[in-house]
Amino acid sequence: MKKQPFTQISKQIAAPLAAIASPQRIAILLAIGKGEACVCHLETALGLRQAYISQHLMALRKADILQDRREGRYVFYKLKNASLLDLLTVSATLSGLSAESVSALVNTQIYPSCECPHCVPALISVSSL
Ligand SMILES: [Zn+2]
Repeated sequence: MKKQPFTQISKQIAAPLAAIASPQRIAILLAIGKGEACVCHLETALGLRQAYISQHLMALRKADILQDRREGRYVFYKLKNASLLDLLTVSATLSGLSAESVSALVNTQIYPSCECPHCVPALISVSSL
């Protein structure tokens, strides 16, 4: 019996898991959720500094977890595969949380104090003028 395929495949499975395995990165992924978010939105949602968030976004993009899209002066981040959220939910239930407590955090929220195009849709038409 060859062990080779196990070694190779398990290594590749571990790579994205290792890339997301920090509370900060998981928070970012949940805040982006099924939609997309810019850095300023994540800053408001998570209460973390922009430079700190950017650093994690860059690593997650490099690991092929996130993809980005530029629109005017904003860069929007999106999960390459939204079923990653299911994986996070499974992990949450393993540590005793309910699936609902995770889905309650998953983005679509609008923050009055945030000035990103997601929270202030009028900005999109203004910036494209
Ligand atoms: Zn926002």
